[in-house]
Amino acid sequence: MTGGGRGIGAAVADALARRGAAVTVMGRTMGTLESTAADLRQRHGAAVLAIECDVADENAVARAFAYAAEQQGDPYVLVNNAGGGESASFLDTDRELWDWTIAVNLTGTYLCTARVLPAMLAAGAGRIVNIASTAALRGYRTMAAYCAAKHGVLGLTRALALETARKGVTVNAVCPGYTDTDLAQEAVLNIAAARNVSKDEALAILLKSMPQGRLTTAAEVAGAVAWLCAPDSSAVTGIALPVAGGEVG
Ligand code: NAP
Repeated sequence: MTGGGRGIGAAVADALARRGAAVTVMGRTMGTLESTAADLRQRHGAAVLAIECDVADENAVARAFAYAAEQQGDPYVLVNNAGGGESASFLDTDRELWDWTIAVNLTGTYLCTARVLPAMLAAGAGRIVNIASTAALRGYRTMAAYCAAKHGVLGLTRALALETARKGVTVNAVCPGYTDTDLAQEAVLNIAAARNVSKDEALAILLKSMPQGRLTTAAEVAGAVAWLCAPDSSAVTGIALPVAGGEVG
């Protein structure tokens, strides 16, 4: 899985390792990946491999997935979780921010999926779960590039699900709302700066838009991912599953 060192990715890695899977975590920061991997090995006795990989770098992705297959065997599950976004009005979204957002969230998902799909098709079995966002389902002010990228991830999910529907491979998107990770903390700080309010006031503003009045937890997102990887979800493909406290029904 990509972006497995912290946040939602680390929670997904934990959920899969706890269920007995051999897990490979990939990301740019080897220190974080290694400590997450060591923790999972210790707590679950799982085979957990950490590999440095920038998902926006095609050559790095090719190398990382080849090494992962060599060490852990062909993958049954791919979780495309690496991603991120920065808040900016449309006119402040320069070409660099646009390209980076699309590269990490959308092109990275394409590149990683292309690396595992041949083996899944050959095996006639596989699960691909893309961590999209409620930003794949609706627009948010000052998040044009991120919304475009995540809508793109959902389009890719739906199209590929149809291509693989008779081949034993399911492809689904999980759409978290604001989830309690570094990414949501950045959103809180952005609101605080933009409105000149305290961090607590900014969090209260953010929570107003959430029907349950709280942030989603990474473990709640991970539970949905784990179900989409389990045998009893085999008829579920091409869906966008909001895990967002009722924000999107
Ligand atoms: P996070 O705590 O900021 O973690 C992001 C993860 O992605 C890190 O593990 C990071 O690892 C990895 N990553 C970022 N850029 C990468 C790159 N170029 N190549 C490889 N790995 C990269 O964020 P999070 O909240 O867990 O987000 C995980 C996913 O959920 C993202 O796709 C995000 O868009 C989505 N999401 C989050 C929320 C939320 O409120 N938190 C809501 C909806 C959707 P390195 O920095 O080590 O590379």
